[in-house]
Amino acid sequence: MRDPVTTVRPAAWPKTPALKVGPADDACNVLIVGVGGQGVIMVSKVLALLAQSQGFEVKQSEVHGMAKRGGSVFSHVRFGKRVWSPTIPKGDVDILVALEWAEGLRWLPFLKAGSGIFICDTKRIVPPFACLNRKPGAPMRYSKETPAEVVAHVGEAYAIDATDMAEQLGNERAANVVLLGALSTALDFSSTDWERTVAEFVPKKTIPVNLEAFRRGRGWIEDARTSTPAVDVPAPTPATAAPYRIRLDINPAWCKSCDICVKMCPERCLILNAERIAELAAPDKCTGCRLCEWLCPDFAIRVNLDAPEALAR
Ligand code: SF4
Ligand code: SF4
Repeated sequence: MRDPVTTVRPAAWPKTPALKVGPADDACNVLIVGVGGQGVIMVSKVLALLAQSQGFEVKQSEVHGMAKRGGSVFSHVRFGKRVWSPTIPKGDVDILVALEWAEGLRWLPFLKAGSGIFICDTKRIVPPFACLNRKPGAPMRYSKETPAEVVAHVGEAYAIDATDMAEQLGNERAANVVLLGALSTALDFSSTDWERTVAEFVPKKTIPVNLEAFRRGRGWIEDARTSTPAVDVPAPTPATAAPYRIRLDINPAWCKSCDICVKMCPERCLILNAERIAELAAPDKCTGCRLCEWLCPDFAIRVNLDAPEALAR
């Protein structure tokens, strides 16, 4: 069984009919936020390229946090007939796309009051300082707001489990393209033009999975706009104590030997083996805190918490 945080179904709370933001005389302002390693810059570059190809003037600016996963990253994309400044003033964002839940909440004040659209992955990347209490089941210092509470303050908002959708396609790294698909529903560009731009941008061998990710994100929002909103997302919790069994999947093909997980594991139970691939050397010490999974810049670690019923079989 997957762990209880990521098995949540996607949820949406559409409050208004589909809003098409189109660049008339004013620039269209899109803010994309997340943490390092999630693909924020890729999303903004695809949007900028597409807008440029449609004849708009485009200005894009980006700020990288830590180069490795965990640092805050954001990118402003503005396009229209004429764009004077590369940065979007607070309160002027037409669409806020967040690749991480807490980052999305942090940037909400930038959204246009009343008309701004919020599209947010429910993915939670908890920074190490939020897990100072290392006991299994200990509370984390991380955003406690639920999507339902957040959406009450936003004109149109979607909380989408893009990471889970990308995982179902076999490539967690395509979560940012799921969000691109979601974003595409709010802008007046054709899906053919979107898909052409995505295909131009991603590595050739990943074109099929990325196009499918794009279609799922787009389809998900279209469904969400017509279906009953329902599911709330539980606050993230670290592994609870027994009877959960902790199991680490480490993908050697994706591990780049960066050593981050080894250095950041609070229990010091990971090593780089002779091939310089991360390995769980002391499984009995692992608490299932998931820091290694959240901090790996290459999505190479998956921490599974096997449920009691799975153990009984
Ligand atoms: S598993 Fe991830 S964090 Fe650990 S060494 Fe490999 S790439 Fe780095
Ligand atoms: S191996 Fe990963 S899940 Fe286990 S204690 Fe270390 S950081 Fe936490």
